[in-house]
Amino acid sequence: MVRLYAGYMDEKNLPKNLLAASRYFADPDVCVEFVASMRWPDGVTCPHCEGKRVSYLKTRRIWKCMAKTCHKQFSVKTFSVFEDSPIPLDKWLTAVWLVVNCKNGVSSWEIHRDLGVTQKSAWFMLHRIRLALRTGSWGKFGGESGPVEVDETFIGGKITNMHRKAVRRRKIGHNGGSDKTAVMGILDRGSRQVRAKVVPNVRREVLQSEILAQVEKKSTVYTDGHVGYDSLAAKDYIHETVNHVEEYVRGQVHTQGIENFWSLLKRGLKGTYVAVEPFHLDRYVDEQVFRYNNRATKDNPLTDLDRFAFAVSQIANKRLTYKELIGKDARPEN
Ligand SMILES: [Zn+2]
Repeated sequence: MVRLYAGYMDEKNLPKNLLAASRYFADPDVCVEFVASMRWPDGVTCPHCEGKRVSYLKTRRIWKCMAKTCHKQFSVKTFSVFEDSPIPLDKWLTAVWLVVNCKNGVSSWEIHRDLGVTQKSAWFMLHRIRLALRTGSWGKFGGESGPVEVDETFIGGKITNMHRKAVRRRKIGHNGGSDKTAVMGILDRGSRQVRAKVVPNVRREVLQSEILAQVEKKSTVYTDGHVGYDSLAAKDYIHETVNHVEEYVRGQVHTQGIENFWSLLKRGLKGTYVAVEPFHLDRYVDEQVFRYNNRATKDNPLTDLDRFAFAVSQIANKRLTYKELIGKDARPEN
């Protein structure tokens, strides 16, 4: 990740911590300026036609596109995760700050209390923010970058905390009656980046098609002895396994990097999220992946502001309606 204070913001005025952020964003004009500069680092661009000739209506905090064929109006919220939300930007931005900078995440109850929105609104906000944090996959792991670790884990299942419909849906939709949801993760040792997602099961076809999609051929792949990883060598990978019954580490051959990610994921789920329904788990995984991939390291000393700015730059062209969130479309993609 690159540091970005793109566009027209003066970096030295930007907030460095939560208290400063909530003061800074108390001014709605500052909120608009900040979101615009993160969303459109090369200058405000009409989201309807990509035109650059726009005129700002300061009293309404919207732009009007000057392109003859367009003439549409838009705000910083148009075609973004903030779209159609009556919640003001200062609350949105403070919520984003909390999500990306609290190591184990925040719950909708905390957002509700801290920001003075209803718990239901807070829950919806959190899901939209997680959608913004979901990063596309650019290129494959492995190759020149170094070996990758692949592992899977199971999350669940606090059935008592779930309403009946959700339980029924889960039982039909997931592991054929098991009350746990499988998550698969891949860690690139070179870049120290993780990708993780909910998977329907941990059978060979599922795990291996994910590896084929995410990892360069001829890469070295470290896994445990799970049968789902059998015959990876035949698919043009250098496959080494560690047998967890007898050993956890054999020199470089281990999966402790990805296991470390699992423990972060589980700690967050246990501490903050009383019960995450399986069809919402993918979004929570996205959130934890974002924090992991944008954590401060010696080589990359990112600040809270860096993480926050990067998150805000990711809000565009993503939308999530309440109906999608609670309806049948809210199941994990696969
Ligand atoms: Zn336009």
